[in-house]
Amino acid sequence: MSKKNRSIRVLVAGAGGFIGGHLVKYLHSLGFEQIRAVDIKPLSEWYQLDEQAENLQLDLSELANCRQATQDIDEVYNLAADMGGMGYIEKHKALCMLNVLINTHLLLAARDNQVKRFFYASSACVYNIDRQQSPDIQGLKENDAYPANPEDGYGWEKLFAERMCRHFSEDFGLETRVARFHNVYGPHGEYQGGREKAPAALIRKVLEAQKDSRKTIEIWGDGLQSRTFMYIDDCVKGIELIMHHEIKEPVNLGTSELVTINQLVGLIEDIAGVKLQRKYNLSAPKGVRGRSSDNTLLRQHLNWEPQTPLREGLRATYHWIASQMKSGVKT
Ligand code: NAD
Repeated sequence: MSKKNRSIRVLVAGAGGFIGGHLVKYLHSLGFEQIRAVDIKPLSEWYQLDEQAENLQLDLSELANCRQATQDIDEVYNLAADMGGMGYIEKHKALCMLNVLINTHLLLAARDNQVKRFFYASSACVYNIDRQQSPDIQGLKENDAYPANPEDGYGWEKLFAERMCRHFSEDFGLETRVARFHNVYGPHGEYQGGREKAPAALIRKVLEAQKDSRKTIEIWGDGLQSRTFMYIDDCVKGIELIMHHEIKEPVNLGTSELVTINQLVGLIEDIAGVKLQRKYNLSAPKGVRGRSSDNTLLRQHLNWEPQTPLREGLRATYHWIASQMKSGVKT
């Protein structure tokens, strides 16, 4: 544990959520001892609660709460957002765009409280949708975000917040870091209720189908749409590396292990030891046709990229969701 880590005062915004919860634990494991963890949800609903952190329930869309949260803080990790999988962001565009209040107020408060570094969790949804029309797409490079034509609602707000980070850095001298996450999955995330993303939703469906005599699974779209999926341990490692590196521009944080949704289902079936009949729901939300991460810039800067094989990460996630469903616990 380095002395430097012990003296840095950190805020994790959105700490009651999936990535934020893992990040608090990871930062502690690196020796960061002064961590303030904030989320709008009551502490009883946080996916993970780190007793060593200062845990606060605050609505960060309010400027006054952002000022309180950033008081005496050196580094802010902003993971707070109203979001979910494709089913959620396609139906709640206005709510997703209201994340602008969190991002704007947290930046203003960070500037005024002399925060030294500010990390912003952006998304692959900022990329121009015209470049994601084929399942065998090349990895998206950072400059593929422009000319701008991102995912409606959620993606536009993410792109706007990225630009705010850039201009707060240029105009006010606040050091900002922006990572564009590509589909993160792992234990201690949502797997039911409407906000869950494809890997967790499909694992849940495979588990449910095993109990059902019909042995069928519903897949959104035709199953040929392609994606990459990053395991949570790689995500939190990447966040910390990017935060403490001199990467001034937005950078991809994802894997380049491209699979179709059909292949993803096949991997989960292998782990479960079942073969299900597939029913395709062509009118369900399905997002872009193909999306993958080009990690050239990430490798150049960090000499590192996410490495957990999808099969391995899915196995850990499968067993966690299975245990939750068995015990009847939600998270
Ligand atoms: P999550 O929904 O699990 O966590 C977000 C947390 O933010 C939630 O606990 C929520 O209660 C909290 N929050 C919402 N509004 C708030 C407010 N007004 N004040 C305080 N807290 C508030 O989501 P996640 O998967 O952990 O995502 C974290 C960040 O990463 C988000 O910005 C998300 O857009 C981004 N991201 C995630 C993925 C992914 O695959 N999980 C992909 C791309 C980008």
